[in-house]
Amino acid sequence: SAKSEAKGQHRFFSADLYRQLQHRLDTERELAAAIEEDQFIVHYQPRVNTHSGELVGMEALVRWQHPEKGLLYPGAFIDIAEASNLIVQLGEVVMDKVCAQLAQWQAEGRALVPVSVNASARQFDEGRVKDLCIRALRRHGIDARYIEIELTESIMANNAQQVFEELRSLHEIGVPVHLDDFGTGYSSLAALHKLDVDVLKVDRAFTAQLGAAQEGEVFFSAIVSMARALGMRVIAEGVETPQQLAVLQRLGCDEVQGYLVSRPLPAAEVVRFYGQRTLPALA
Ligand code: C2E
Ligand code: MG
Ligand code: MG
Ligand code: MG
Repeated sequence: SAKSEAKGQHRFFSADLYRQLQHRLDTERELAAAIEEDQFIVHYQPRVNTHSGELVGMEALVRWQHPEKGLLYPGAFIDIAEASNLIVQLGEVVMDKVCAQLAQWQAEGRALVPVSVNASARQFDEGRVKDLCIRALRRHGIDARYIEIELTESIMANNAQQVFEELRSLHEIGVPVHLDDFGTGYSSLAALHKLDVDVLKVDRAFTAQLGAAQEGEVFFSAIVSMARALGMRVIAEGVETPQQLAVLQRLGCDEVQGYLVSRPLPAAEVVRFYGQRTLPALA
């Protein structure tokens, strides 16, 4: 009957929910301790010019060096960090590590390229992303143009006015903004026009559709035209095959990032991309 079904469902639901809650609380506690104990490291993924293959930037991606579980990727902890507001502290840690790394590379005499740092909606709610950048840049003596902020369309879900102002203030200090995972969210064209973003970083779901069927190209080429009209650059993320790269070159996409060029790497390994032009020979 409907009644016993509902009852069964209820029982299933609470056991499941209980387990989820327990996991969440455990992870939250561990995360807080891990921030104290400095268990986070940053990997860097190169971004190259679609046509020349020249290194034009890197993305900072956080990893948790867990004492028992080994290296954990953001999928295992970012959601929980966001829900618990620990993301604000973690964001400080990542920004500080990135600026310290830039300072080290600078001291080694390398010609720096900008490093983009992912920020969560939570950090924007607090309205302190600009201060976060300024503090870390000053602490390590880094010029603002070497840091970029990546954020997703979801930041516009609430408090759009606050977000607009925060983006404007990032521009004022010279920190460019990338709209990450573009195409998966719900930003209207009107909002996009009002947003002070410099780069549309197209989600890898769209990159994955390139090279196989013709339809996959339609969306991408529309984004490229729109970005041109709005004075923005386009980055394709998740580029894995030479076929995808060939299509992106033809469509005039500015920059590419993905396993075809390189996986995210520890700082000591990513330095080999400095001053390099890295694109595989096209088939
Ligand atoms: P994202 O910012 O969209 O980063 C791209 C993700 O795609 C990274 O996963 C990267 O390793 C992966 N990726 C890059 N190239 C390829 C490819 O060719 N194929 C495939 N299949 N995947 C590729 P990762 O490092 O696991 O990060 C996942 C997400 O976690 C990021 O997505 C970002 O939203 C978030 N994240 C990472 N670091 C931070 C951080 O410091 N702060 C915040 N707030 N979020 C972060
Ligand atoms: Mg990103
Ligand atoms: Mg992305
Ligand atoms: Mg993504």
